[in-house]
Amino acid sequence: MKKTYSKEGVKVIWEPDKCIHSTICFHGLPEVFNPSKRPWINIEGARAEAIREQVKNCPSGALMLGDDD
Ligand code: SF4
Repeated sequence: MKKTYSKEGVKVIWEPDKCIHSTICFHGLPEVFNPSKRPWINIEGARAEAIREQVKNCPSGALMLGDDD
């Protein structure tokens, strides 16, 4: 399964099967990545640039940037 969350300047692709539960994303940017909420990714929670930087820190590839980023 893949889900996509996007707004101007950023597109996040989420592949839950790849997640190794490192917690890096929700410690780094809790305004956007919050596993206790549904949907757990709030794309409006931070600036596009901050989201892009956080996605790049995902160690497993569960979070990826869309092609146009
Ligand atoms: S940073 Fe990546 S691997 Fe870690 S919890 Fe978030 S999505 Fe999963």
